[in-house]
Amino acid sequence: MKRHPYEWRLWLRTRLPWFLINLGFADKGNDCQNVNAQHKWYNINNESSGCYYCKVVVNGKKWNK
Ligand SMILES: [Zn+2]
Repeated sequence: MKRHPYEWRLWLRTRLPWFLINLGFADKGNDCQNVNAQHKWYNINNESSGCYYCKVVVNGKKWNK
Protein backbone atom coordinates (compact mmCIF):
# COMPACT_ATOMS: atom_id res chain seq x y z
CA MET A 1 0.00 0.00 0.00
CA LYS A 2 1.40 3.39 -0.95
CA ARG A 3 1.93 6.09 1.61
CA HIS A 4 -0.83 8.55 2.28
CA PRO A 5 -0.15 11.88 0.53
CA TYR A 6 -1.01 13.81 3.68
CA GLU A 7 0.92 11.54 6.01
CA TRP A 8 3.94 13.84 6.25
CA ARG A 9 1.70 16.66 7.43
CA LEU A 10 0.28 14.49 10.17
CA TRP A 11 3.83 13.52 11.11
CA LEU A 12 4.85 17.18 11.18
CA ARG A 13 1.88 18.20 13.32
CA THR A 14 2.92 15.74 15.99
CA ARG A 15 6.44 17.17 16.10
CA LEU A 16 6.44 20.84 15.16
CA PRO A 17 6.06 23.53 17.82
CA TRP A 18 2.51 24.80 17.99
CA PHE A 19 3.37 28.27 16.70
CA LEU A 20 4.65 26.86 13.44
CA ILE A 21 1.50 24.82 13.05
CA ASN A 22 -0.60 27.92 13.67
CA LEU A 23 1.29 29.63 10.87
CA GLY A 24 0.09 26.91 8.55
CA PHE A 25 3.29 24.93 8.09
CA ALA A 26 1.56 21.63 8.63
CA ASP A 27 -2.03 22.38 7.84
CA LYS A 28 -4.40 19.55 7.07
CA GLY A 29 -5.22 18.72 3.49
CA ASN A 30 -8.57 19.80 2.11
CA ASP A 31 -9.90 16.35 1.29
CA CYS A 32 -8.17 12.99 1.03
CA GLN A 33 -10.46 12.02 -1.82
CA ASN A 34 -9.00 14.85 -3.90
CA VAL A 35 -5.75 12.90 -3.92
CA ASN A 36 -7.35 9.44 -4.17
CA ALA A 37 -6.53 8.49 -0.61
CA GLN A 38 -8.48 6.99 2.28
CA HIS A 39 -9.62 9.03 5.26
CA LYS A 40 -8.39 8.05 8.66
CA TRP A 41 -11.21 8.75 11.09
CA TYR A 42 -11.14 9.68 14.73
CA ASN A 43 -13.87 10.27 17.26
CA ILE A 44 -14.68 13.97 17.74
CA ASN A 45 -17.62 13.94 20.14
CA ASN A 46 -19.03 10.41 19.90
CA GLU A 47 -21.35 11.56 17.10
CA SER A 48 -19.10 13.03 14.45
CA SER A 49 -15.96 11.74 12.78
CA GLY A 50 -12.98 13.80 11.77
CA CYS A 51 -10.09 12.83 9.54
CA TYR A 52 -6.49 12.95 10.79
CA TYR A 53 -5.25 13.85 7.35
CA CYS A 54 -7.76 16.38 6.05
CA LYS A 55 -10.38 18.90 7.16
CA VAL A 56 -13.37 16.72 6.34
CA VAL A 57 -15.84 16.14 9.18
CA VAL A 58 -18.87 13.90 8.81
CA ASN A 59 -21.75 12.75 10.96
CA GLY A 60 -21.66 9.19 12.20
CA LYS A 61 -19.20 6.90 13.92
CA LYS A 62 -16.85 6.24 11.03
CA TRP A 63 -14.00 5.47 13.40
CA ASN A 64 -15.98 2.54 14.70
CA LYS A 65 -16.14 0.64 11.39
ZN1 LIG B 1 -9.29 12.67 5.10
